Formats: sequence, C-alpha cells, structure tokens
Amino acid sequence: MHKNREVILENGTSPAVLRPQELEAVYSISRAVAQAVNTDDALDEIIRLARPVFIFDNMVLYQVKSEDDFIPIYARAIGRGRSQEAGLVWGETTALEVIQKNQVVLKTEEAENLEDRTRLRISLGLPLNSGTEERSALVFIRFGGPSYKPDQIRLAEFIGSHVTQLLERDQLVQKIASLEAERRLDRLQEDFIATISHELLTPLGFIKGYATTLLRDDTTWDDTARAEFLTIIDEEADRLHELIDNLMDSSRLQAGTLRMSYQTVRLDTFLRDISMRARSRSENQKIELKLKTDNLRVPIDPARMAQVFDNLLINAAKYAPGEVVTITLLADQDQAHVIVEDSGPGIAEDHLKSLFKRFYRVPSNETTVRGTGLGLFICRQIVRAHGGDISVESQVNQGTKFHIHLPFQRNEEENQISFRESS
Ligand code: ADP
Repeated sequence: MHKNREVILENGTSPAVLRPQELEAVYSISRAVAQAVNTDDALDEIIRLARPVFIFDNMVLYQVKSEDDFIPIYARAIGRGRSQEAGLVWGETTALEVIQKNQVVLKTEEAENLEDRTRLRISLGLPLNSGTEERSALVFIRFGGPSYKPDQIRLAEFIGSHVTQLLERDQLVQKIASLEAERRLDRLQEDFIATISHELLTPLGFIKGYATTLLRDDTTWDDTARAEFLTIIDEEADRLHELIDNLMDSSRLQAGTLRMSYQTVRLDTFLRDISMRARSRSENQKIELKLKTDNLRVPIDPARMAQVFDNLLINAAKYAPGEVVTITLLADQDQAHVIVEDSGPGIAEDHLKSLFKRFYRVPSNETTVRGTGLGLFICRQIVRAHGGDISVESQVNQGTKFHIHLPFQRNEEENQISFRESS
C-alpha cells in the first residue's frame, strides 16, 4: 500500500535566480544540445551535466501518442541499487498525470512495506510541449527525501526546455528525411513514367503513322510499298510486345513475384542450344564455344536463364556487330562460371557501375541501335534469383566480358527472397 501526496505546480517558468554552479550547468547543457549529433548521446550528456546541481536517481522520457497512450523513448537509472525498469513503472503514473493535466506534477509515494530509503519515492514530471505536434513528458525520480523545492523545480524546467529543443530538432530532422525520401520516390516515378511513355510511344508512332498512310484514300500504293509499310507495322508491334513483356518481367522481378521453375540442367548442352538459336536468329553472328567442362549440372529455370544469354548475345550483335562472341564454361569450386565475351567497342569505365540499373543506356551518338536499358537489369535480377551473380568487365576498344556465376546447389529459401534494384 502506498500513501500518496501530490503537489501540482503552476506551469511556466518564472524568472529564476540560478546559482553560479547551476547557471554553468544550464549553459553547458545548452551547448551540448546545440552540438548534438545523436539524441540519445545528447540526453546522456544532459544527465551527466545536470547531476551535480540537480539530484535524481532515474530519468525517463515518454513520447505521448494520446492522453492514455505514451511510450518511454529514453530511460536512465543512475542512482545506486535501482533499476531502470523500476523507474519506468514509477514514472508512468506521474507521466499519465502530467499528460492529462499538461502541468508540472510533483508526487511523493511512500511504500509501507519497505524499510530503506527507497521507501520514499519522489517523482517530478514535466510536460514538454514542442513547437511541433509531438508531445513528450519528462519524469525525474528520486528515492528518499527531501522533496524538490520550487527553485529546484525551476531548474528542472530549464533542463526540460533543453530536452524539448533536442526533441524538436530530432523531429525536424526526421521530417526532412521523410520528405526527401518522398521527393526521391516522386522523382523516380516521374522518370519511370517519362521513360516508359517515350519507349512505348516510339513504336506506337510508327504503327499509327504507317497504318494511317496505308488508309489514305487520296493515294494509291504499289505492292512493294504496301508490303514495306506492313513489315514496319509488324516489326514495331513485335517491339511493343517485347517492351511490355520486359516491363512486366522487370516489375515482377523487383517485387519478387516472378516464379522460377527450376530443373537440373547440363550447362554445356544448354549453352550449345543457346548458341544454335542465336545463329538461327542472326546468320551473321559468329559464336565460339569453349566448354572446358562437361556434365556440369546446375539447377536453373531454363526459360529464364535462356532469356539472360539471349539478351547478352543480342546485345553483342547490336553493340559489337560482326565480332565473334566467345562463350566459355568453367567450374569454379562450388559455382559454374560462364563468360560471354566480344571484341567490340567496349564500354567506358564510368558507365560500368550503372550498367545493370533499370533503364540505364550508355549515351551514344549511334541512333540506329534501339533499346530500353531494361535487358541487363532483367539479366541481373534473374541470375540473382538463382543465387548467382552477373558482372561486367570492359575497356573502350578492348571488347566486353560478362561473367555469370551460378551455384551448383540451390538454396530453397532463395525463391522467397525479393530482389530490390541494386545500385
Ligand atoms: P538496351 O540494349 O536495351 O539499351 P541493356 O540493359 O541490354 O539495354 O544494355 C544496357 C547498355 O549497355 C546498352 O545500352 C549498351 O550501351 C551497353 N552494352 C550492353 N552490351 C554491350 C556490349 N556487348 N558492348 C558494348 N556495349 C554494351
């Protein structure tokens, strides 16, 4: 059983006369607040500076969510033999009153069943109302008498006002960070929409233009011209289809919702099939296979992994036309290592770190080579979904080498991982 006595004080700081030592502590506290980088460290420093002039055993800072919902965001026990948890419990009843009355509360509680100095608990609660909407309460707890005198309460209010400043600053920093994140997201979305719209509108423009031309009734077209226009429409419709497929893959890969269907496949056979398909797609593409190991079995989703190699070979045909592409298969400890290498124009070092980013294309004067910058992004996401990785090595005029590493064993949990765009 507790016998409680309670004094509610007028809120508001009246001009207090501080003793030199107290004044010195208050100045040091305000300096510590001005220089604070981390809120918790600054609160530790406030305690250290306040202790010589203001006696307390525990200090608890509560963040107020509503009148009866508040959580401790900082607690320190500095008195001998007392725990921080105990301070939290005793601080709560005082904090509740402070929050409900929005006033300074001084409470004295006496525990009848205790004999030592902890029998008497004095708690001083201060409302901290910052300029923002956030509210907090600061509670000092002291075991044994005497209770806090009015001048000590004013000193506590000075300390409280500095804690308020610290919290205000922390809230502002958090608010700025969240606004920045929102702005970044907005900008990303705008860039995304602009790129997509541009990429979708280009083939659509061709389709619309040539279809309208064919439908004009004031001109007649011979069979050759008509066939040419229809071929363009057909090719651009395919391109539009491919673009939408790529976009859907890229967003599913990013959300981690693209299902992989794994089979254990012999990589040498798989790479032979890939190169045969590439040769039939483009007769000019010369591919050399260097399969340094056979019977290397790796669990892959064959359709998705084919998409990766097709993309690398199509890129080689686009950006290194006429050059031989070498595909090398090696076994590295517990991984298969495939190298796809061309001796084309290469890529300048500045661009290499961004090459696998969504929509990234190396700026070029060559306007006839079309692309969206989605291919390598998708490649990396697919390879990573297999627990492997893809990297690039290149120098201007020295050709380009893509390295793909795939683990022999697949970790079942890898299917669950959702992959985020990497930098
Ligand atoms: P896209 O081909 O649609 O532009 P990718 O993501 O497949 O997009 O490729 C990104 C960029 O990387 C390309 O725009 C190109 O500049 C560069 N690139 C890719 N492969 C090669 C290569 N073999 N040689 C030189 N540059 C390449």
